[in-house]
Amino acid sequence: MQQKENIKRPSGEVMHLTIDSISENEEFARVVVAVFATRMNPTLEEIDDIKTAVSEAVTNAVIHGYQNREGKIQIEAAVQENVLSVTISDDGVGISDIERAMEPMFSTLPEERTGMGFSFMEAFMDRVEVISAPGKGTSVTMRKKIGRERR
Ligand code: ATP
Ligand code: MG
Repeated sequence: MQQKENIKRPSGEVMHLTIDSISENEEFARVVVAVFATRMNPTLEEIDDIKTAVSEAVTNAVIHGYQNREGKIQIEAAVQENVLSVTISDDGVGISDIERAMEPMFSTLPEERTGMGFSFMEAFMDRVEVISAPGKGTSVTMRKKIGRERR
């Protein structure tokens, strides 16, 4: 009996991934996180939400953080009971006014972008936390409870 408990899958599994900051990796990153999340037995809708949120955060790292120049993006995903958390970090330019950056339709590239990335992350995940400062890079942590609708 005791042994059975010990081989139980531990809550708190973590995945680390480092990718180059290129737009081709947006699809790769969102698929990897989605596959990692399948151990939580998510619904298809939850998988889609996770993919969308990861994609927005990685796209931001590529175009805003590194301004399409070279760089590395770190992705960490973790399971704590029924909560998935995903952190996407870059060592890019950083954000001077985080509150403003997270407002719907605010973009520092208003000609090309709609400024909805953070709004999507907030809509599709339960919590979004941003740590950033100019010259210090950006780290976006998103959490989502999985399987809420099931009994
Ligand atoms: P959209 O996501 O709709 O294409 P957007 O990327 O401008 O447009 P958000 O994703 O909401 O909109 O981001 C808002 C702003 O926050 C960006 O315009 C940018 O100035 C800043 N920002 C977001 N992520 C980063 C990042 N990783 N590094 C630096 N700045 C960022
Ligand atoms: Mg964006």
